[in-house]
Amino acid sequence: MSKRVAVIGAGPAGMTAAYVLTKSPANLDVNVYEASEQVGGLSRSLRLWNQIVDLGPHRFFSRDRRVNSLWLEVVGRDYVMVPRLTRILYQGRYFQYPLQAMDALQRLGPLEATRCVASYGAARFKQPKDYCESFESWVTARFGRRLYEIFFRTYSEKLWGIPCSELDSDFAAQRIRKLSLGAALKQLAVRRKNNEHRTLVDRFAYPNGGTGQVYERMAEMVQERGGRVHLGAHIKRVVASAGRVRGIELYSDEFVPCDAVISSMPLTSLIARLNGVPERIREMARRLSYRNTILVYLEIAGELDSRDNWVYVQDPGLTVGRITNFRNWSPSLYGNSPNTILALEYWCNSDDELWRRSDGELGRLGADEFRASRLASDAADVLRSHVVRIPKSYPVYQRGYKDILRPIQEVLRSVEGLQAIGRYGAFKYNNQDHSILMGILAAENVAAGTAHDLWQVNSDFEEYQEACRIDETGLVPAPC
Ligand SMILES: Cc1cc2nc3c(=O)[nH]c(=O)nc-3n(C[C@H](O)[C@H](O)[C@H](O)COP(=O)(O)OP(=O)(O)OC[C@H]3O[C@@H](n4cnc5c(N)ncnc54)[C@H](O)[C@@H]3O)c2cc1C
Repeated sequence: MSKRVAVIGAGPAGMTAAYVLTKSPANLDVNVYEASEQVGGLSRSLRLWNQIVDLGPHRFFSRDRRVNSLWLEVVGRDYVMVPRLTRILYQGRYFQYPLQAMDALQRLGPLEATRCVASYGAARFKQPKDYCESFESWVTARFGRRLYEIFFRTYSEKLWGIPCSELDSDFAAQRIRKLSLGAALKQLAVRRKNNEHRTLVDRFAYPNGGTGQVYERMAEMVQERGGRVHLGAHIKRVVASAGRVRGIELYSDEFVPCDAVISSMPLTSLIARLNGVPERIREMARRLSYRNTILVYLEIAGELDSRDNWVYVQDPGLTVGRITNFRNWSPSLYGNSPNTILALEYWCNSDDELWRRSDGELGRLGADEFRASRLASDAADVLRSHVVRIPKSYPVYQRGYKDILRPIQEVLRSVEGLQAIGRYGAFKYNNQDHSILMGILAAENVAAGTAHDLWQVNSDFEEYQEACRIDETGLVPAPC
């Protein structure tokens, strides 16, 4: 008899797991249950005003051979290499991102630059005892307080909704590249041109049909191989007894027996209804929180001069956190349309006033803030707006979250046949590549009986033995 495997969620993690499972020679009956009517999760693409857009910027990047090989296997040659240009908007000025020390110092002007260098120097001499604990102390110790205040604080507090002193340093360690003011000053002394080489090689592979194309193709391939993808199938709970998974229950009350469950539904919802979980653990899980995203799409007449893929908005005077310009990704997204689509990202909690605003109000806020960003001239014509609300889009790494996660992980480890993967599924601040890797490893655990520890994915700060990347020729070795 075949082994019945249920995969909950058709985002990158769940679709990858199903894709790998249906490729395996093992005798498996694979079913994917997706609550929404579309595959791709947060990485889905939408058709909007005769163009294709993603849910904010979705740049795929990995140095892991397994992840890149799988991505190429699915996408084939149907992708382009997109040159990356991203900048930070701060007090009406645009700074390169990732932060380039020379660019930042020059644009800040001599007085502010001197302050930054002095506070950077002070931080190098005097590292606080708790410098690894919070986001604030991590960044301040490495960049100095002044640069932290200018380039990190406002954006991070907009995104997470808590003071940076309460945010765990994991977020910084995973996402912030090193920046050396020492090297920048040396550069200034020998008058070398600013890092042209680095920006030239900064390109990423992007599917012609939008990010979601990867997961739509996976769904097709899964079904061709006999797996099933059930859309509009909202899972209420995973059922376990005597230390082993027994099946899943849908909101329609249908019970589906299975031998293995790979879940990418929110970890908090999984724990809330999984039977046999001690009340103490359920209570701990309730303390984990997620942040919501509101995406305000604007159609602008014509093209903008700026070549940014997206900009980070550090300006405290603006509520918007990031603006994506899809016209600067791939011509296949806009086709014959002469117009530009922007996505403005707003982050909030479910009880915030912003989350309850009407689409019309949010559209007007987006149009006003787009004009204030000076990405285009005052004359730029906003033709229409569209709003997408995404609950639970960011797991909040509040200080102490790991102490909450540890006992939850132990409880889940004790249920044979159950694996929790993915961004909200494992409460990990995953990009696509991390969720894809989790999907691969979870599938191998089921199909080949391996014992990969999934909780370690996206905790190793991306050091790989066999580093490689994708360019227009396919897979190439990446310098370490
Ligand atoms: C604004 C934004 C920008 C981003 N930018 C990038 C980027 O530049 N590069 C990058 O690589 N990544 C980026 N990401 C992250 C990327 O979108 C995620 O890492 C990825 O989609 C996570 O995949 P996942 O499968 O773990 O989770 P998800 O994509 O969240 O998929 C989970 C799926 O499970 C389904 N589900 C949930 N509960 C149930 C249930 N009870 N029953 C059935 N189905 C259920 C959901 O509907 C969803 O389809 C970004 C994310 C956001 C929000």
